[in-house]
Amino acid sequence: MSRELLVAGGGIAGLAASIAARRAGWEARLFEQAPAFSEVGAGLQLGPNATRILREWDLLQGDLVRQAVAPQWLRVRDGADGGELGVLQLGETLAQRYGAPYLTMHRADLQAALLAAGQSAGARLQVDCRVLAAQQDAACAGVRTSHGSHVEGEALVAADGLWSELRGTVCADGPPQATGHLAYRALVRQQDLPATLRSAEVTVWLAPRVHLVTYPVRGGEWLNAVCVVQGTQPGDPRAWDHAASQAQLAAALGPVCGAVRERVAAMPQWRLWVLHARPPVASADALARGRIALLGDAAHPMRPYLAQGAGMAIEDARELQRVLAVADDRVLDVPTALRRYALNRWQRVAQVQEKAQRNGTIFHASGALRLARNAGMRLLGARVLDQPWLYGV
Ligand SMILES: Cc1cc2nc3c(=O)[nH]c(=O)nc-3n(C[C@H](O)[C@H](O)[C@H](O)COP(=O)(O)OP(=O)(O)OC[C@H]3O[C@@H](n4cnc5c(N)ncnc54)[C@H](O)[C@@H]3O)c2cc1C
Repeated sequence: MSRELLVAGGGIAGLAASIAARRAGWEARLFEQAPAFSEVGAGLQLGPNATRILREWDLLQGDLVRQAVAPQWLRVRDGADGGELGVLQLGETLAQRYGAPYLTMHRADLQAALLAAGQSAGARLQVDCRVLAAQQDAACAGVRTSHGSHVEGEALVAADGLWSELRGTVCADGPPQATGHLAYRALVRQQDLPATLRSAEVTVWLAPRVHLVTYPVRGGEWLNAVCVVQGTQPGDPRAWDHAASQAQLAAALGPVCGAVRERVAAMPQWRLWVLHARPPVASADALARGRIALLGDAAHPMRPYLAQGAGMAIEDARELQRVLAVADDRVLDVPTALRRYALNRWQRVAQVQEKAQRNGTIFHASGALRLARNAGMRLLGARVLDQPWLYGV
């Protein structure tokens, strides 16, 4: 008997959910409001917990593996004095430890790979079609779309991102909150940088109220930078493309070392994202209700200080695949299967949300906390940078 999963949203979470549904033997029908599948021009880090799933889905091959980079080192420095605090060997060492690589990539490359996999698996992926409303009854879940149609399926996944409007069908807790942190992002060709600023590593500088992360993408030809400062930004909080200038960022940096200033100065174009989040998921009830489940940022938006938002969306989809594969209304009905998805996911994502939030405090520490952080990192090095609880699942 054919069962269909409806998916609202065609970001990383929605595309991953479509692949998961097809792999579980379900039909998949996805609605994306934008006129084309597209991702913002920025990088992404994926830990072994996520790349393991991509490999299982045959995605760690072809274009994606050519464009992704497996950096050899993660290096953390104090952003005020430039001193090295700790290093973690990534590359083959980490890949062997966790059975999958630590990768950095351009978001568009990941999205293109997910899109191609969804299409070749037979998912129906529709752009320029906004889900206006969702509802469910004992027999099915349905959506009303901007094309005027009413579409029904056996289950619905709301993967409509940070500002999810469908979230309210599961968990009515209002909009996400501003974190008081602003992420400036830039991408630059390495060949356009002075030789001393080119890098094949993940490097993090931690300074009071600010941190900078750089890593290579696109086969190492480009360097991605994210610089997070504390402050507010007038205008639409949902906008990614807030006007941002190098001068504005330079002024917001505060007392940082020359290495941080040099990198900011070497990257001509910055864009600004006002960071929003929600408190950690408090129970399984917040992830699924009846025939509707939340995935990705719609379910558990988080601060980006563990680099795991997309990783958690991919893990969500893998868990969805597991429960859909056995959901068949005779043995395990769909609401019970989605309840199982929620039960199996909520504590994991809550832990990641909570640790990401805590990292924000540690990254931006000043005074005694900064001194304690630096002493701990210098003493323990790789042992505090490695994340077995996260990567080893
Ligand atoms: C500065 C920063 C750095 C980050 N770095 C990392 C990192 O290194 N590693 C990592 O794993 N994660 C990282 N993240 C997190 C990651 O970007 C997100 O968690 C991830 O992109 C969420 O994907 P999503 O599909 O849930 O949401 P989105 O990407 O927001 O996709 C939602 C989609 O739904 C569509 N949509 C919305 N409403 C509707 C509707 N009603 N009908 C139809 N379509 C709709 C939207 O157009 C959009 O395409 C970072 C985040 C930030 C802000």
